[in-house]
Amino acid sequence: MALYKNANFLKHSTHANFDKTYSPGDTTPDPGIYKCIVCGDEIGIAKGHTLPPQNHHQHRPGLGSIKWQLIVCSVSASC
Ligand SMILES: [Zn+2]
Repeated sequence: MALYKNANFLKHSTHANFDKTYSPGDTTPDPGIYKCIVCGDEIGIAKGHTLPPQNHHQHRPGLGSIKWQLIVCSVSASC
């Protein structure tokens, strides 16, 4: 479970990208924190990066396929 201290740094969003799931190696449309909804592992992805390949995050036999879902999206400021 992702943690935070100051709720003022987060804003609720209902954007559809939070509902999508991604496979290992997929290019992510949004930088931020992704959670594997099968095992609970969480990772941070920078802008323009891809999700880790299958061999970086492995499930024990029988657990099922890795499925990443965006849980916190980082937003760039236009300075
Ligand atoms: Zn997993």
